[in-house]
Amino acid sequence: EVLIKVENVHKIYNEGRLHALNGVSNEIKKGEVVVVVGPSGSGKSTFLRSLNLLETPSTGKIYFEGVDITSKKTDIDKHRQKMGMVFQHFNLFPHKTIIDNITLAPIKLLKKSKADAEKEAMELLKLVGLQEKANAYPSQLSGGQKQRIAIIRSLAMDPDVMLFDEPTSALDPEMVGEVLELMKKLARDGMTMVVVTHEMGFAKEVGTRVIFMDAGQIKEEGVPKEFFEHP
Ligand code: ADP
Ligand code: ADP
Repeated sequence: EVLIKVENVHKIYNEGRLHALNGVSNEIKKGEVVVVVGPSGSGKSTFLRSLNLLETPSTGKIYFEGVDITSKKTDIDKHRQKMGMVFQHFNLFPHKTIIDNITLAPIKLLKKSKADAEKEAMELLKLVGLQEKANAYPSQLSGGQKQRIAIIRSLAMDPDVMLFDEPTSALDPEMVGEVLELMKKLARDGMTMVVVTHEMGFAKEVGTRVIFMDAGQIKEEGVPKEFFEHP
């Protein structure tokens, strides 16, 4: 079952002088854990951000669950709710408590009651062992804790796919493991994931497919084992 279909996408910057994506096509199926690798500036982040239209393709189409989300007629917000996104820099609301950060979107967008949203948020906090941080503010958490909160905040929206843009790159080395463990758990539980990362251990352990990008194009793809053994 194809979840996301990317059809000949180009992304052009600087009046055509920079081709950040140069004819990218791909299909992401339900349950896949796709790891996107490649040199800096090769278009990985632009590719990932195109999947939920944080970047609008210059040309080409993106289908999500069969719907052309690049069409101007599509209500992108509705579809984007089903695509969780985790960034390098957490993007938590600094003036809201952890539990308010988690419940904000479920209450506002999914029209959940505060009580239900908070009950679910506490379950998610328990999953990552951070129940006691419910009423803390983001600044009181370590980077690894903030990133785990950012991940469960996305999960609170019950997404069909999770997109990760270098989720561990901004963390102190000793905090990388706790975030990767949570991501591995999601992968093992069957979450569809697209992950831009330099963590090859993650790719080998839970990745179902590796995409190698260079100069705005997908140059190679394969299952992690073969990909890394036959470079
Ligand atoms: P990667 O994630 O592989 O490092 P990016 O997708 O971030 O690559 O960037 C691909 C290319 O597009 C880079 O040359 C980058 O500088 C350029 N780029 C990305 N975003 C913009 C933007 N908003 N305006 C102009 N150029 C951009
Ligand atoms: P990352 O690699 O984590 O995506 P970047 O520093 O490449 O972060 O990009 C941060 C932001 O700046 C993104 O929104 C990207 O689109 C934009 N950006 C990146 N390169 C350029 C560029 N050459 N000109 C303008 N904006 C850019």
